[in-house]
Parts: sequence; structure tokens; C-alpha cells
Amino acid sequence: MSDPAGSPSARKGSATQSPRGVSGVQRKFERLGLHEPADFIVHVPLRYEDETSITPIAQAFPGASVQIEATVLDRQVLNRPRRQLVATVSDATGTLGLRWLNFYPGQISQLAIGKTLRIRGEIRHGFHGPEMVHPRLGSIDKPLSNALTPVYPTTDGLAQPVLRKAIESALQRADLSETLPQVFLERYGLMPFEQAIKVLHHPPASVSMNDLTERGHPAWERIKFDELLAQQLSLAEARAHRRAQRAQAMLADPLLLFSRLRQALPFALTAAQERVIEEIAGDMRRSFPMHRLLQGDVGSGKTIVAAFAALQAIASGAQVAIMAPTEILAEQHFSKLSGWLQALGVTVVWLVGSLGAKARREALSAIEEGAAGLVVGTQALIQERVIFKRLGLVIMDEQHRFGVGQRLELNRKGERAGHQVAWVPHQINMSATPIPRTLAMTFFADLDVSVIDELPPGRTPVLTKLIADTRRDQVLGSVLSEVRQGRQVYWVCPLVEESEALQLQTAVDTHAALSQALAGVRVGLIHGKLPTVQKQQVMTDFREGNVDVLVATTVIEVGVDVPNASLMIIEHAERFGLAQLHQLRGRVGRGSHHAICVLLYQEPLSMVARQRLKAMYETTDGFEIARRDLELRGPGEFLGLRQSGQQLLRFARLETDHELVERAREAARALREHYPGHVDAHLNRWMRRRQDYLRS
Ligand code: ADP
Ligand code: MG
Repeated sequence: MSDPAGSPSARKGSATQSPRGVSGVQRKFERLGLHEPADFIVHVPLRYEDETSITPIAQAFPGASVQIEATVLDRQVLNRPRRQLVATVSDATGTLGLRWLNFYPGQISQLAIGKTLRIRGEIRHGFHGPEMVHPRLGSIDKPLSNALTPVYPTTDGLAQPVLRKAIESALQRADLSETLPQVFLERYGLMPFEQAIKVLHHPPASVSMNDLTERGHPAWERIKFDELLAQQLSLAEARAHRRAQRAQAMLADPLLLFSRLRQALPFALTAAQERVIEEIAGDMRRSFPMHRLLQGDVGSGKTIVAAFAALQAIASGAQVAIMAPTEILAEQHFSKLSGWLQALGVTVVWLVGSLGAKARREALSAIEEGAAGLVVGTQALIQERVIFKRLGLVIMDEQHRFGVGQRLELNRKGERAGHQVAWVPHQINMSATPIPRTLAMTFFADLDVSVIDELPPGRTPVLTKLIADTRRDQVLGSVLSEVRQGRQVYWVCPLVEESEALQLQTAVDTHAALSQALAGVRVGLIHGKLPTVQKQQVMTDFREGNVDVLVATTVIEVGVDVPNASLMIIEHAERFGLAQLHQLRGRVGRGSHHAICVLLYQEPLSMVARQRLKAMYETTDGFEIARRDLELRGPGEFLGLRQSGQQLLRFARLETDHELVERAREAARALREHYPGHVDAHLNRWMRRRQDYLRS
């Protein structure tokens, strides 16, 4: 018996009778994250079935899930058009057809003609009138239940009755005591915890099923509030924890170096850049680790801010690491930053996975011996055996592309042995993906945020055009005219989710087709599988204007900066996410020329794809894009959780629960201040396996 949970014997007998059965069921529980009674009680139903009343057949409308009591008039097994069991039943108000495409002999005998049964299912319009497909049959002697029947989220082979029983038993055993002081319940209008949990598992028939499934019922409000409060408390703890750590105070007076760097730049910094540089410098003078999120829309000039921060740290005797998500970007940072900083006496090295053995050895020893002031690299910085002599500042570019784990790992490179308190580097996370307010208040509440809310002068917003794929010839004309004016063009090939090889092939084909269609135009090709040297060569050629049109996969999605490029074509734009489209569009409009972004799409469009394209057409404001993205997609992508797949909020939905977030935030502050004794109890209930995660 390999699958005891789904089989009738396990359902009847207690699962504890067979040791093998126990482990099978247990494993399934664990798959659902259910380990202890405390987990089971917050495993709340997905929906409910109403078994509290009997509906007359005449009042059961198509689409409704109902329970009727009716007498069997007729029953037969048909073999055509396919094998099936059909029956006709009636009550005082009407008749109804029943149909099973899979059935057991037991069901046939249950449908004895003349017998009255209780029948549950969804009413549909059948060929011969109303019918139920695969209804459930029961005895009319069973008393009607007086609560809605919960239907729980489950996993393969774990039947509802088994889950229900386990949850019932957990409700008897688990601690349902109140974690909040009584005054909080009044102040925030909260239902007591025990009551809320019981309502969710056994809603009385009077409760609106809609309120429950739409999560608007006070019982739902309570657990959402609790969850958000736990998150706020945990972030506050993380902040306190961070303040108890040690970091090198970057005390060198950077004024002279700063002014030399300013003078070397071909542009003046914007007021926003100046402000942010000062915020960071102030933080780094302190002896606990800075944890700052540096936000600025695409093209707002974050890289130079990073250079100033690095300079201050290096002048104070520390080493700095900058990690970028792609080799192309790391290479670009390396060339920019060494251009700016080498003149000031800083040694910049770079480290990526594809470095040759000799170059790698040299880089590693420069890092270990401390000769390298600034290290620019990719994930290779954490993957390899890289040892820093005195890492004092870590900068993550495009932080949303990294997982929380990767961020932690780079941080650990700064830990120093033999210290009582943890010794960690300062940290800057840069991102062009603006974080909507609710998200900033929740997942990033323990970070300090600096925002570059101003673009360098002279930029004009990119004009976005939506063009159906069938009119792509027209696009070729625009490409030619742009190139004739001495401008450059990106041509981005579609994402092919299923296959990287296919995506590559598309890029190669597009390159060939465009080279042929655009005689006299220099067309280049870049994709992730090119050898590094070749990638660098192509990017250099493009940057220096020796390539007019660059056919690319999404490797150019983030960070790439070639100000002379003024036209961006994105093929199959409907396949890309909103943040991705915004990033790609951000590759143009970086110079003073008018820039255009063409989104080629192929019909039919899904609802969501249509909304994404509409958003791109309507706005270039990164904050607005982010807000809409959050609505369309939920918070996962903003958090850099792509790799981890961890779901951090189970009940609250940031898209709709802003108000609750505000209240939970205030409550967290009040609880920590006036009722510190309640903090642990609340965290224990809600955060048991997730606390470490938020620490990062
Ligand atoms: P992002 O914020 O997207 O990372 P970058 O740091 O790549 O932006 O900067 C975009 C472009 O703007 C670069 O070419 C950079 O040199 C230039 N830039 C940065 N700051 C300024 C400024 N204050 N004035 C003019 N150009 C600037
Ligand atoms: Mg950038």
C-alpha cells in the first residue's frame, strides 16, 4: 500500500495503525509545510462547501454547487458514445440527470431505483436538461451539518477527510491563546485569535461564503493582520540585530578625493545624486553595518554613486566588492569604474567565471593580499574561493536579480574571525526596479532607502510604439532611417521559455535575416553563449559605434549603457514581464537624442499581456510601472526571490491590503515599546521557520 492517504482503508482506520502509513501521510503533510499542531491550525481552507441545507431541484441553477435530496427513477450503464453510468432522479419540484464517466460497481448498486439519496454536486446544462457530473452520493439519514464544510489546499494523494481530521485534532491540541494584549483587539478592531481560527475552519452557516473566499471576513482580517504584524516585528528585530553588529567605520575624509572625482567626470552630478552620495557617506561613518537600498529609475545614474561610495571606503583602508548579474554588465562596470578610479590611485580588478586560469590566479591573489581596492565581478565573487583581506563594502547592482542567499554569501566574505560580535561589511543594494510603497514598508522595512528621483538633464522620455508583428516591414524602415542619422539600434529577440537553445537559434536567425534585409548596415550579434572575449568584443564594437544594429537576447536586459543607441525593437514583447520591458526600454533614451521603443507583438494577446503592453505604452515612469506590475504579478519578483521560490506572505496580499500593512506597522511599534513580553509569543506563532530568512 504505497499511497495510504488516498485509499479507503487509511481513511477509515486511524492512520496511526500502520507505521508505514504514518510516514506516508506525514510526508505529505510536510510537503504542505505542516509539521506541528501550530502549523495545522493556520492551514486555512481554500473554499467551503455548503452542506447545511437541501436545495429543491427547481431552485438549483446552473453553476451552483448544491445538495439535493431526490429519488432514483432510472439508472443505466451506457456503452455509447462512451461507457458511462447515467441516472435520473427527482424530488417534488423537478428532475435531474446524473452522470459518471468513471464509476465503480458500488455506485451502481447505490442507485437502487426507488431509493432516496442525498446528492451533492454542481448543476450544469446537460444535453437533456440540468445534470450533475460525478456527483457525490450520501444517505439522507445523516444529519445536515451546521457549519460550512472546509476544503483545504492539499497535495497529491492527500484526501480532504484525512487533512480535515488532522486539523481537527490539531485544533484540540494546539495553543490557541491570544498573543496580543486586549487593548490591541479594541484599538485595531480585531477578532480574538481563537474565534477567528475557529470561524475559518468551521464557519457557521450564517457567514457569507463570499466574504470568506475573498478574504474580507473579520476572521481573515485577523490572521492577515497577525501575519503582517509578525513580519513587521521580525524586521524590527533584524534591524536591532544589525545594529548590534560591527562594521568598519569609513572615517577617511573623502572631500579631496570626491572633488577630484567630480572634476574628472564629463558631467555635473544631479542634486539627487549629490544627496544620495551624502546619505551613504554618512551611514558608512558609523560602526554598525549600513544596509541601504539605492533606487533610481533606469538611466538615473546609479553607477557613479557607487563609485563615490567605493572611493570613501577604499580611502578608509577597506576593500570594496561590486557584484553584477551578467558578465556584460560586470565588464561595463569594470571599464567605467577603472576609468574613473584608477586615476585616483585605486587598483580595480575583475573576476568573472570565464576568466583564464592565469588571470584568475592574479585576481585572487590581489584580492587576498589586499592590493585590489575594488573588485568588480559576477556571481563568481561568491562561487569561487575568493578571500578578501579586508572587505568593508559590498555593492549589489540590480539586486532584484540576486537571491537572498547570494546576498548573504557575499556579506559573509567580510566576516572576520576572532571577533566577539559579528563583523560585517556595509551594504548597498542598487535597483532600477522601484519598490512600491507597500512593499517598501513590508519586506524592505528594515532597510534604509535612498532614491535618485531625478534623471540627468536633457533626457526626453522614450516614445513607445506598439506594432503588430504583421507590420514588421515598417519597422525595418525606421531602423534604416535611424542608422542613416548615425544612431544605433538594439533588436531584442524573443524569450523562448521552454528552451534556451531555441532562444539562441532565434537570435542567430534574426541576425542572418537582418543582415540580409539591411544591406550596408553593420549588424552585430550578442547572446549568453558567446565566449566572453567575443561578447566583450561585440559590446566594445557597439559602444564605439562600429556596429549599427545589435541583435541580442535578454543578456542586455539590465545595466547596459550606450548613450548613442536611440531605437529599441523588442520582438514578441507580449512574452516579456513588465519590469523586464521597462528595463529593456531603459537601454535607450540615455543620450540627448529622442529615443523610440518599438514593441512588436503577436496576436492573440492574453489579458495580462494586453495590460502589460498598455502600461508600457501609457507611461515611462518606473514607479507607475512597478505599481502596475505588483498588481499583475504579485510581490515575488521584486524581492529577488526568483531563485528561492519562497513564499513569504501566505494570507495578506500586498496588492490589496495596504491599509492593514499600515496598521500592522503601527501596532508593531507599539507592541515592542509597551508590551515587549508579547513580541516573542507572536513571533513564535507566525514566524517559526522563516525568521532566519528575514534576517538577511
Ligand atoms: P543606471 O542608474 O541605470 O545604472 P547609469 O549609472 O548606467 O544608470 O547611468 C546612465 C548614463 O548616464 C551613463 O552614461 C552615465 O555616465 C550618465 N550619467 C550619470 N550621471 C549623470 C549626470 N549627472 N549627468 C549626465 N549624465 C549622467
Ligand atoms: Mg545600472
